[in-house]
Amino acid sequence: MRRTKIIATLGPATDRLEVLRDVIEGGADVLRLNFSHGGWDERYRRIEQARGMADDLGCCVALLGDLQGPKIRIAGFRDGPVRLEDGAEFFIDPGLDGDAGDAHGVGVNIATLGDDLKEGDTLLLDDGNVELSVASIRAGRVHCRVVHGGVVSDQKGVNKRGGGLLSVPALTEEDCADLKLAAKAGLDWIAVSFVRDGADIEAARELIRSAGGQAHIIAKIERSEALDNLDEILDAADAVMVARGDLGIETGYEGLIGLQKSIIRRARDRHRVVITATQMMESMIDRPVPTRAEVSDVSNAVMDGSDAVMLSAESAVGEYAAEAVAAMASICEGAEAWLPARSEASPVTEGAFERVDEGIAKAAMYAANHMDVRAIAALTESGATALWMSRIRADIPIFALTRHAATQRRVTLYRGVVPVAFDVTHTESDRLFREIFRCLRDAGGLEHGDLVIITKGAITGVSGHTDSLTVLPLEF
Ligand code: PGA
Ligand code: MN
Repeated sequence: MRRTKIIATLGPATDRLEVLRDVIEGGADVLRLNFSHGGWDERYRRIEQARGMADDLGCCVALLGDLQGPKIRIAGFRDGPVRLEDGAEFFIDPGLDGDAGDAHGVGVNIATLGDDLKEGDTLLLDDGNVELSVASIRAGRVHCRVVHGGVVSDQKGVNKRGGGLLSVPALTEEDCADLKLAAKAGLDWIAVSFVRDGADIEAARELIRSAGGQAHIIAKIERSEALDNLDEILDAADAVMVARGDLGIETGYEGLIGLQKSIIRRARDRHRVVITATQMMESMIDRPVPTRAEVSDVSNAVMDGSDAVMLSAESAVGEYAAEAVAAMASICEGAEAWLPARSEASPVTEGAFERVDEGIAKAAMYAANHMDVRAIAALTESGATALWMSRIRADIPIFALTRHAATQRRVTLYRGVVPVAFDVTHTESDRLFREIFRCLRDAGGLEHGDLVIITKGAITGVSGHTDSLTVLPLEF
């Protein structure tokens, strides 16, 4: 059994149904729509295709909408891409027309760019491929010297080393519109890009609520400011993504993996879900096997405790989308096999348990880690019990038994959690255990006589009421 989950980004490659099928069958637990590209016609089509395919295959797959956020981009060039030579002068000017750029300078999509800059700042174009040093700012025009040249083309991203470029909030007008449509379309997870603080997440949550959505929120950690406010972001969000692309540009790549490890640990310690993303299997965009460095990267993300690892271009536009998912799945399993089966002590296990259901969830994991138990079955409404459980390492499956399709899809992102459709609302308690046994038998991998842990509430069908833990042998 693979415990670490896989997020695969949808795109032109997965528009081919046979590729989409292989991506889902190969192990994608969550499918991501990247709102930085395309429009809603295309998104609705992909949502429908993904849901249809998951139904056909009998797989539980969640959908994630990833907002573009206030990404700063240069405008266009009049005569196509330009080559910037080392040492040359180049300006960025919000006042310049959309496609009036040339080798001397280019427009940009944010009017206040100059306000957040001063002489000596480093600007990075196109994910750091071109480096500029700010020489002066005059009438909103940012004059730079080219430190490391290269070719730049239309709409490439602009970042500032050290962060602090954006005084604007994480949600642009376009993001707010996308967020509402995503909530209405019933997406399970929404990722907010370039989050600065907890207030950005609260604003997103309010928009989802007012649109009648149930989506949970992923805060993308990709700006230096987010690191300063990480605890409040973790408290406000349901999950965080270590968005290594933009984060690595802002902070410099040399400290990035240390940051990754620290963000993962802090997220798990606060009962939050955590995703490691970007360039994990990059070479598989045009090659059928991963490099050993990529094998190492994915393995380390798994060993660090990521709930999920993510594919971006590898699955969206890659030539080997299905192979990338399959390779990632096998690397996850390979890495998990090297982890000690049990969790070590952490704030999750040692801190005070604030709620009865939390206490039951954690007691179940304690028992699971000290007895020869083969599975855990958590009866859950919202998935919260399964989330607490999955913050503690174990080597047996945590089955989340729930009658809510939305909860089934949500928990597909939680490490080690397997969603199972199960309706308990009308069942009297003596029949309940027989029903659970039947369900566990169908889930597979278990035998008559295996010890299992079952958690549930005296009142079934109400969220937050888990109050009992039972350990008993399976009877088929
Ligand atoms: P993006 O986010 O791919 O939407 O930019 C991920 C990252 O920055 O790593
Ligand atoms: Mn990003």
